[in-house]
Amino acid sequence: MNKIIEAVLFPINADNLHLRSEQIRMRLKNYMSMIGGQFVLLVIFDLIMWDVLPQTSLLAYDSLWILVASVETVWWWRNRERVNTILECTRWHIAFIAFTAFFALFWGGMAIWFFPDDLIHQTLLMILLMGLAGASVSTNTVYPFSFYVWIVGVLVPPIWHFVSVGDAAHWGIAGFATLYFAVLIKSGGEVGDAFLDALKQRFDKERVIQALLEQQVITNQAHSDLERLARTDYLTELNNRRAFYEIANQVWSTAIRSKRDVSLILLDIDRFKAFNDNYGHALGDSVLVLVASVLKNSAREGDVVARWGGEEFIILLPETNVVAALAFAERLRKLISELRINFGQASLSITASFGVFQRDDLCQSIDELTFSADKCLYQAKSEGRNRVCHILNGQNLS
Ligand code: GH3
Ligand code: MG
Ligand code: MG
Repeated sequence: MNKIIEAVLFPINADNLHLRSEQIRMRLKNYMSMIGGQFVLLVIFDLIMWDVLPQTSLLAYDSLWILVASVETVWWWRNRERVNTILECTRWHIAFIAFTAFFALFWGGMAIWFFPDDLIHQTLLMILLMGLAGASVSTNTVYPFSFYVWIVGVLVPPIWHFVSVGDAAHWGIAGFATLYFAVLIKSGGEVGDAFLDALKQRFDKERVIQALLEQQVITNQAHSDLERLARTDYLTELNNRRAFYEIANQVWSTAIRSKRDVSLILLDIDRFKAFNDNYGHALGDSVLVLVASVLKNSAREGDVVARWGGEEFIILLPETNVVAALAFAERLRKLISELRINFGQASLSITASFGVFQRDDLCQSIDELTFSADKCLYQAKSEGRNRVCHILNGQNLS
C-alpha cells in the first residue's frame, strides 16, 4: 500500500531528485513505443469494429485520439530534456497524470461508448484492452504511477460495464479480466520494484565511485604537496639542495651532450652572523627571504635558483658563458646592496659576495663546477667582500 501511495504522490525533493529524474527519463525513452503501440491498436480496433459500429463515430473517436496524441508528442518533444530540477520533474509528473489518465479513460471508456451488440465483438474488445493493459508492464513500470493509472483506467471501466450487463457470460469475462487485472498489478509492482532497486544500486555505486575519485584527488594533492615540500626550502621557498641537484643534473647532461655553455654562481651574504647578532635572527630570516626574491625575480626561465644552505645561494645558468654570468652576478650584487631593511627608525643594508665559474673541459660534474665557483667565492671574500670573482685557467679575471 505504501508503495502505491509513494507512486501516486511521487514526492520530489532535493534528496531523490536524481532518482526521480532518471525514472522520468526512462519513461520518456519509452514514449515512442507507447504511442506507436496505441496507434496500432486503434487501427486494429477500427478494422474489427468497422462493420459493427457507426463509422462516423469511429472516425470522430480516432480524430480525438490523434489530436491529443499530437499535443502530447509536441509536449514530449519540447520538454524531453527538461528533467533536471524539482520544478521540471513536477511539471512532467503533472503532464503524465493528465495524458496517461486521458488515454487510459479513452481506451477504458471505449467499452462503454462503443459496446458492440454481439458477444464475439464484445469479447474481442475486452481482449484488445487486456493486451493494451498488459503491454504497459514493460513500458510503464519504470514510473509506477503512470502504470497504475493506466491499468485502472484501461481495465476497470470495461470490467464494470461487463458486470453491469448482468448475465453469466459477461460475468465470466469480467471475472477473467479482473483476475488478469490482479496479476498485472502484482507483476507490474514486482517489475517496478526491481527497476527501482537496480536504479538505486546504480546510484549507490556511482556515489561510491565518486567518493573514491574525490579521495583519490585529495590523496594525489597531498602527495604532490609532500613532493613539493620535500624539494622546497621552507623559509625562502626556493629549491632546496636536493631539488637543485635533480634539475641541475638534467641541465648538466644536456650541456655535456650538446657541448653548450653552462655557468654557475655561488653567493654568500657578507657578515651575516654579525647581522643576526646585532638585529636578531628574525630580521635575518626576512633578509634571506628578500634576497631570495631578488634572485627569483632576476633569474631567467631555465635558470636553476636554490638555497645552498645557511646564507648561501646557488644559481645554475644554462646556455650562459662566463661573460654573461659575470654581468648577471654583478647585477645581482648591486640589487642586493640596494635592498633597504627597516629596523626601528634605522634603514639597514647588506652586501653579498659572488663566485662565478663557467664549465670547462676539465670540469666533469656539477660538484666540480660548484667546487670551482666556491673557490671564486672564497677569493671574493678574501679580497674584501661585496664583489664578484671569477678564475679561469688559474687567472683571476674579476
Ligand atoms: P662571511 O662574510 O664570511 O660570510 O661572514 P658570515 O657571518 O656571513 O659567515 P658565517 O659562516 O660566520 O655565518 C653565517 C651566519 O648565517 C651564521 C648563521 O647564524 C646565519 N644563518 C644561517 N642560516 C640562517 C637562517 O636560516 N636564518 C638566519 N637568520 N641566519 C642564518
Ligand atoms: Mg656562509
Ligand atoms: Mg656569509
